Amino acid sequence: MTRSGQDYLDSLRDGRSVWLDGELVKDITEHPAFRNTARSIAHLYDLARDEKLRDVLTATPEGTGPGDPVLRAYQVPRSHADLVRRRAAFKTWSEASYGFLGRSPDYMAAGIAGFVSAPEIFAGTDGGFDGRDNLAAYYRRMSSGSLYQSFTITNPQIDRTKSASEQEENDLYVRVVKERDDGIVVRGAKMIGTAAVFGDEIIVGTIEPLAPQDIEHALTFSMPIDTPGLKFISRASYEASARSVFDNPLSSRFDENDALLVCDDVFVPWERVLTYRDVQASFLMWWGTPAYHHFVHQASVRFWTKLEFLTGLAILIAKSNNTYQLPPVQMQIGRLIGWLNIARSMVIAAESEFERVGTDPDGPVHINREIASAHRAMAGDLYPKFLAEIKMLAGGGLIQLPASGYDLTHPELGPLVAKYVRSPGTPSEQRIKLLKLAWDALGSEFASRHEQYERFYHGAPHVYLPGIVRDGDPDRLAAFTQSCLDGYDLGTGPAGAAEPGAGHAR
Ligand SMILES: Cc1cc2nc3c(=O)[nH]c(=O)nc-3n(C[C@H](O)[C@H](O)[C@H](O)COP(=O)(O)OP(=O)(O)OC[C@H]3O[C@@H](n4cnc5c(N)ncnc54)[C@H](O)[C@@H]3O)c2cc1C
Repeated sequence: MTRSGQDYLDSLRDGRSVWLDGELVKDITEHPAFRNTARSIAHLYDLARDEKLRDVLTATPEGTGPGDPVLRAYQVPRSHADLVRRRAAFKTWSEASYGFLGRSPDYMAAGIAGFVSAPEIFAGTDGGFDGRDNLAAYYRRMSSGSLYQSFTITNPQIDRTKSASEQEENDLYVRVVKERDDGIVVRGAKMIGTAAVFGDEIIVGTIEPLAPQDIEHALTFSMPIDTPGLKFISRASYEASARSVFDNPLSSRFDENDALLVCDDVFVPWERVLTYRDVQASFLMWWGTPAYHHFVHQASVRFWTKLEFLTGLAILIAKSNNTYQLPPVQMQIGRLIGWLNIARSMVIAAESEFERVGTDPDGPVHINREIASAHRAMAGDLYPKFLAEIKMLAGGGLIQLPASGYDLTHPELGPLVAKYVRSPGTPSEQRIKLLKLAWDALGSEFASRHEQYERFYHGAPHVYLPGIVRDGDPDRLAAFTQSCLDGYDLGTGPAGAAEPGAGHAR
């Protein structure tokens, strides 16, 4: 069986160096900034052992017995049917957080299945460091232990006009500072470790291209979170500032946290290194393997789930405001349902038009590259529009709420709140409960972080939009339009003289 939620929680009590607001957090399973979210993640592990869901959430990869299932995201998909089964697993877990745990353990597990789908990338460039054996051991360790891999693969935002080695100080981005017989010592920082404090291991690397001179920064390794010298400096906790689950139902339970990772002369044994002093392999492990496409598969299913949740919220708000039947409100709801079905269709289309890694007909597969790229462009633009549409629909009710549920039980205020904060068919407590959920999803600090997350978690637009041109087929599109231009000229004469579609090149 995969590990239980309790096993997961127990593993978090390991002396990891998590800092919040100047405090070294002793035990994240007990601390008010982290404990509920840790339990929400533990719940995911319990779902994978649930008799009714075990077949959806786990798989038995080749070479392992029926008694050794792994989380389905760790299985290397080899067919369209495998991709569909992965989708079902992603969907089940994402529904458990209504789409608000972006970096649940399946995200990076999917990426690791991508790494092992193209191990030759780790062989090293020009006879350099060969990480293939380490990769195989890493895959076995992570999948057999149902481990939770978090990652920091972005350099801190210091000077984006300069390469890693050209920054004003040498150790701003993680780099190797010492080589020993048994491993390396690394120093520097990485951003943004989403859910890093909840992980078992952190993988440190760089997903954006490195310059040829960035050789000391061109490395990838995975280490346990409690490794001496690893420090996680957390952002403000929304879970800690939540009044109660009633008042902040999402941020109190699904605040996956984001942390700056600082490597303070961390020793990394060789067997933990995946790429080393290799600009090309450090980059291609994300893009030359299906890792990134597997990330998008998980993320696009989660995004679809989140839009379903938000659309449901919009419907309940409109019903509570008694505006649901009004034609303009029906238009708004129709728009939301249309948008969410675009998100859903992209998942299904990307699976149907899957691509195979290499030429082996039984080899690994991944979702369609072009559709995966299109999803990145679509989701970042759509999410803010989605929120804005629901805020328009909700009106001032999102704001006209008592500070906390406590007012409802207050002897003097309770009757006043019950009388004035209500709507036909929706008693006061129910309406306040709904609108507090809505504010947490749409307007709170937690909501704002989610808006930024959906815009940036998959990279910045100046990087991924040109990437769409690179991965796409711009020549075919230009040739198609050119074929129209080629079908007529100044001498073609009046409308109707030319053959329709003349010059059509497809
Ligand atoms: C909530 C959240 C969670 C995240 N979680 C993780 C995580 O778990 N792990 C991880 O590794 N990363 C994570 N990220 C980081 C994410 O990968 C980066 O935010 C993303 O790659 C963009 O990099 P950046 O933020 O440094 O933006 P930048 O690259 O600095 O870009 C910001 C803006 O600056 C401008 N700009 C900068 N450079 C250029 C240029 N060369 N040309 C044109 N315009 C430019 C553009 O307007 C751009 O939109 C997370 C980000 C967010 C917001």
